[in-house]
Amino acid sequence: MNKVILHIDMDAFFAAIEELDFPEYRGKPVVVGADPKDGKGRGVVSTCNYEARKYGIHSAMPISQAYKRCPSAIYAFPRMKRYVEFSKKIHSIFYEFTPKVEPISIDEAFLDVSGCIRLLGEPVEIAKKIKQRIKSQTGLTASVGVAPIKFVAKIASDLDKPDGLVVVEEGKVIEFLKPLPISKMWGVGKKTEVKLKAKGIDTIGKLAQIPRETIVKRMGKVGLHFWSLANGIDDRDVEIGHKVKSVSLENTYYEDVENEKIIEESIRSLSDNVSRILRKKKFRGKTITLKIRLGDFSTFTRAHSYKSLIDSSQIIASVCMDLYHNFDRKGKNVRLLGVAVSNLNTESGDQLGFFDESNREQQKIDKVIDMVQNKFGVDKIKKASLLNKHSRRIDEGDIT
Ligand SMILES: [Mg+2]
Repeated sequence: MNKVILHIDMDAFFAAIEELDFPEYRGKPVVVGADPKDGKGRGVVSTCNYEARKYGIHSAMPISQAYKRCPSAIYAFPRMKRYVEFSKKIHSIFYEFTPKVEPISIDEAFLDVSGCIRLLGEPVEIAKKIKQRIKSQTGLTASVGVAPIKFVAKIASDLDKPDGLVVVEEGKVIEFLKPLPISKMWGVGKKTEVKLKAKGIDTIGKLAQIPRETIVKRMGKVGLHFWSLANGIDDRDVEIGHKVKSVSLENTYYEDVENEKIIEESIRSLSDNVSRILRKKKFRGKTITLKIRLGDFSTFTRAHSYKSLIDSSQIIASVCMDLYHNFDRKGKNVRLLGVAVSNLNTESGDQLGFFDESNREQQKIDKVIDMVQNKFGVDKIKKASLLNKHSRRIDEGDIT
């Protein structure tokens, strides 16, 4: 039987919760993120509502720039605890429909409902029911994409936001993809977009029409991957066992840093904390990655892999230190540092199997929450804050 996959994505999630909790915000531009400090703030926009988007504000934009565009907006600091409460509710609603749920983030998931059609009705009906249940139980709206493959479901959920529902039927996939701009392609970043456009490939349809051999010759494996997606070939399943792939922490400095001593101290502290999380979760990994962002926002990663699994803070720190010393920052100051360990042993990732069936869903939801809390640096991660006046809280910790 053909697969029916739903991609569900909450609309302006954090901002929508702020509006729900503070009715006086409604109808006004709301920006959730770092403190703008009258335009001098250094963090970024986490989410903003649709009113704020009218001013050209979007997530990941520097908060200072958002402030410039709309100083009169409401700037709210993220209340992660509250968002996590909503996330739990939403994820439990997903499991009321199907056990095949792949949580992607705090407000987003893939659902495979292929096995539920007889019980719950046509895919579009299932999608409507999920949207209604989310609305009635949380007061929030979600957008849903329905398609026979993940890639298309993901694109579809984004096309009619907010409160959208886009269904792409089997056999209509190619037709649906054809006119879409190449930037909609899952995984195509700015650089690849520019590269493809330079070759005259500005829509997904144009990419699909290039002979397979030509694309392989020109762009190798990555090219083949995109070409396959463009032709509606995507056999990835909705993965229900969340396997942890990496543990990482990042720190953005208050002010860009020149001083080597401060940088080295940060590397040691980040390594320490990554190692602590690894040991706590009983993970060990083979690949250590150092991420460096310079004052001009140019970003670099340098990695080293071992044949054996490691979790020692000393090894992680000394590898990162070597990677750093072999990196030439050309006199530019450092804005952000990150340390990650990936290529993890998966034994602990499979721990879910040990829990009895009735506990499984809760375990999975807990895992999402865990991931999210690490991502946004609550409590225990906050302890990781570096000790000098240049740094602020750990920007982002991630278990992916
Ligand atoms: Mg969302």
